[in-house]
Amino acid sequence: MNAPDDPCELRLFNSLTRKVETFRSVHPGEARIYSCGPTVYNYPHIGNMRAYVFADVLGRTLTWCGYDLTHVINITDVGHLTDDGDTGEDKLEKAAAGSERSIWDIARHFTQAYWDDVKALNIRQPAHWSIATDYVPAMIDFAQNIAADHCYELEGGLYFDTSSVAHYGALARSVTQEDGQETRGRIAQVSGKRNAADFAIWRRTPEGESRQMEWDSPWGRGAPGWHLECSVMGEKLLGFPFDIHTGGIDHREIHHPNEIAQNQAFCGSDASGANIWMHNNFLVDRTGKMSKSSGEFLRLPLLIEKGYHPLAYRMMCLQAHYRSELEFSWDGLHAALTRLKRLLIAAERLRDVDEGDADDARLQPFRDRFAAAIADDLNTPKSLTALEDALAAKKVDTGAKRALVARMDDVLGLGLLTLARSDLRIRPKDAAASEDAVAEKLAAREQARAARDFARSDALRGDLAAMGVEVMDGDPLGWEWKL
Ligand code: AMP
Ligand code: ZN
Repeated sequence: MNAPDDPCELRLFNSLTRKVETFRSVHPGEARIYSCGPTVYNYPHIGNMRAYVFADVLGRTLTWCGYDLTHVINITDVGHLTDDGDTGEDKLEKAAAGSERSIWDIARHFTQAYWDDVKALNIRQPAHWSIATDYVPAMIDFAQNIAADHCYELEGGLYFDTSSVAHYGALARSVTQEDGQETRGRIAQVSGKRNAADFAIWRRTPEGESRQMEWDSPWGRGAPGWHLECSVMGEKLLGFPFDIHTGGIDHREIHHPNEIAQNQAFCGSDASGANIWMHNNFLVDRTGKMSKSSGEFLRLPLLIEKGYHPLAYRMMCLQAHYRSELEFSWDGLHAALTRLKRLLIAAERLRDVDEGDADDARLQPFRDRFAAAIADDLNTPKSLTALEDALAAKKVDTGAKRALVARMDDVLGLGLLTLARSDLRIRPKDAAASEDAVAEKLAAREQARAARDFARSDALRGDLAAMGVEVMDGDPLGWEWKL
């Protein structure tokens, strides 16, 4: 209903122009997004999942603005080397080398683990999950298209000549000018490359070796370079130019500049393939548990094991602007869970109310504040407070309030009208006492308190403490007890 004159006046920060720009869709009424997906050689950590919470909020916001959304998220099951540049091993081949399972099994297993996290975090299903290995013939076609004018062959395969396109690396921030040549510290040299930043389009399997994943190509048997897949799947599924390309901020330095260079070569122009390039900042963790190589690394199931509902992590992400670094801490996660509980308590009263008019005049200030915040480069921290204030609003029609809260939650994805309080109370896996035993003691203690038998109630509090349960009398959250 809205585009091309989008009444949301959605403003988004474009990493390419380094400016906040008003969103204008390429195809009237439609929005097309491509998000770089996970490399499925291991479980995703919660930092990875921040990238998809961000992309999800972006997609939901475009839906709220009235666009018909087509979202693509790819699954990288080939090509991503242990270094983002062109050295190191293929992450999947490496994982398979140390395992009894085939590379295909490994990819399937970790793709499913990622999808489980996606679901638990209320990340909507995109229109397409594109699997890189399904597109290898298309990648070969694409490479053939650009090979003559933009590539050269080395022993290791086909390389992209980054000096063959204009403004190579304009997206990246770490480019330094040295002796008139662009050099980037993280890229290791491959002998024979014309420019330090040149990268593999096709990685030929070395003589006498074989890979579990390899295909025939005009440049020998081998596998595609990582950057190629995103250019190809973006073009095939969304067409150039599409509206928005997303990824984590690390992709701004190598992966996306290389994608852009390939797209320029393919289009025969300076066009980057997408109108807006957006990057979420990192979730950082001072304990070092985010590293996939550490034993107990920070995965969503670990949070759940420790008693945190996955949506508490979504809340934690929403509380920060996507372009800010977010520091993970258990205290921070606990605070996010508490905030989510408060929202649920407030929304509970609306659950059984018939939906009224979300455009009700009395609620307009809240709706306007929410809309202004989310249109301002997805300011989720501010939109959350607008939602909280709307929930607290007095003397408003509850049906209208329900309708507005539902619309706001369509953007934030916290499940406020479907989640039950009890869903949020997850018992930590290592809790000593059983749920029933705790409930029994709590009920007995309530009875003792009602009978003003404080000696007994104190004794029961002691029993509970011994079971690892701290009773919090007078807790404003009402049903709370803490393990
Ligand atoms: P990968 O599986 O390494 O390709 O990463 C998947 C996505 O997670 C990419 O968009 C990365 O940029 C992003 N990412 C990686 N680490 C973090 C982090 N600590 N915080 C936020 N996003 C991240
Ligand atoms: Zn990508």
